[in-house]
Amino acid sequence: MSEVVAAPETRAAKEIRRIGHWIGGEPVAGESGRSGVVWNPALGEQQAAVDFASPEEVDRAVAAAAAAFPAWRTLSLSRRSEIMFRVRAVLDEHREDIARLLTLEHGKVLSDALGEVARGLEVVEFSCGLPTLLKGGFSEQASSGIDVYSIRQPLGVVAGITPFNFPAMVPMWMWAPAIACGNAFILKPSEKDPSASILTAELLKEAGVPDGVFNVIQGDKVAVDRILEHPDVAAVSFVGSTPIARYIYETGTKAGKRVQALAGAKNHMVVLPDADIDMAADAAVSAAYGSAGERCMAISVVVSVGEVADPLIEAIRERAVKVRIGDGLDAASEMGPLITPEHRDKVASYLDSGPAQGAKVVLDGRDATPDGDGFFLGVSLLDEVTTEMDCYRDEIFGPVLTVVRVDTYDEAVRLVNENPWGNGTAIFTRDGGAARQFQFEAQAGMVGINVPIPVPVGWYSFGGWKASLFGDLHAYGPESINFYTRGKVVTSRWPDPATSRVNLGFPQTR
Ligand code: NAD
Repeated sequence: MSEVVAAPETRAAKEIRRIGHWIGGEPVAGESGRSGVVWNPALGEQQAAVDFASPEEVDRAVAAAAAAFPAWRTLSLSRRSEIMFRVRAVLDEHREDIARLLTLEHGKVLSDALGEVARGLEVVEFSCGLPTLLKGGFSEQASSGIDVYSIRQPLGVVAGITPFNFPAMVPMWMWAPAIACGNAFILKPSEKDPSASILTAELLKEAGVPDGVFNVIQGDKVAVDRILEHPDVAAVSFVGSTPIARYIYETGTKAGKRVQALAGAKNHMVVLPDADIDMAADAAVSAAYGSAGERCMAISVVVSVGEVADPLIEAIRERAVKVRIGDGLDAASEMGPLITPEHRDKVASYLDSGPAQGAKVVLDGRDATPDGDGFFLGVSLLDEVTTEMDCYRDEIFGPVLTVVRVDTYDEAVRLVNENPWGNGTAIFTRDGGAARQFQFEAQAGMVGINVPIPVPVGWYSFGGWKASLFGDLHAYGPESINFYTRGKVVTSRWPDPATSRVNLGFPQTR
């Protein structure tokens, strides 16, 4: 293991630890002279510096991946699957090491970080089934003496650009199916929490993934732009905010690449008057404040229908005030800090703009922030929010839950469907008919019925609608196999004098 993973010791060290790239099976120190700060958000202090790649460094990673691709795609499916099983075993063995890095750099509590690793491992497990996933179709005797079959082949070098909020799981959504399909992969992780990507690279090497099949390039827009324009990169997967997702999609597709860009969200949880209020309140608190609200599937709007509002808000408040906030490495903590001081301040600004625009403050997280320099903000609850307010219109991405009161189910659905985002949504009710109607008409890619964060299991695919996804195919699951391969259809005939003759007409079946 390199010193990069020895974060607890290095935190105490005088010299700032540097986090570099991983190219061709080896750690590579950055040479551009540019770098970014990696915070320990719970302590509010810098714990490392991450190198920012130059275009030339990106080119080196792409060249390493391109060199590794022919042998990797030629390896038999059973051998590749065997390596993926080993990858799964090695990652499983190091769950805790990965999770600790996530807590140290992202801030999420350790139990949540372990949950992130577990959900990512589901995708690795799915990808182990690659021989079955890559099976094509076969039609014997499609025409006289002619068989037709379909195969799926890898694209070549593919890249993934990932956000700060899931530094291990979202990369797994991409690299696991991509390399299982026979591609070579370049990961450009978030510059805010880059260490998990280097540990992943080390573990993949230990599991037997050949050098060059998995590479990591650290950096910012400079690295991303080079990936988007590089002629040898065939496809780009992106997860991040909506403006950047739109940019990635437009720039990448213009350069002729296949692109899927998963984007921001504003997830509504509709609570009908017949809902189990305790269950709905437990769900709202867990889904709004877990990971300090820094989840693209977090619930950020509760839509209370009719008379449920007052008892529901009181039940949420009672639970929310008990959420224990602190360093994620402390087992007593349930919610950690936000990622940077700038982000914490931006999230807190909605606690000023909300009431100024007419919202009622039920809980102001600034009153419940732990002492110290960490980037903490307590849980916040805003009631009587309307669609014109900034706290409703923006993706806050922090522990601020808003409540919009409506009178009817129809108004609630209209709110969900008129929102520009469509990642996830949920309904809480005891009425099966209402739930089924909601599933039928909600304009979102993932719907929960009495489930607040309906992140699909690894053998379904993950993706939103509207401004939450640019591109056609969702992440992981069956759609990822389509994304990371191209189809080929073979029409074949073997010499048979009985069926061979000259015919200048357009081929027809006979
Ligand atoms: P971000 O868009 O700021 O960054 C994502 C990636 O893009 C990072 O690797 C970053 O280095 C890069 N990037 C940033 N600015 C860029 C620029 N100008 N040009 C090129 N590349 C750039 O997102 P974030 O703050 O890291 O993550 C939070 C966002 O991600 C939220 O909006 C959240 O909803 C979204 N998200 C979406 C999903 C989903 O599945 N839909 C999942 C997780 C997070």
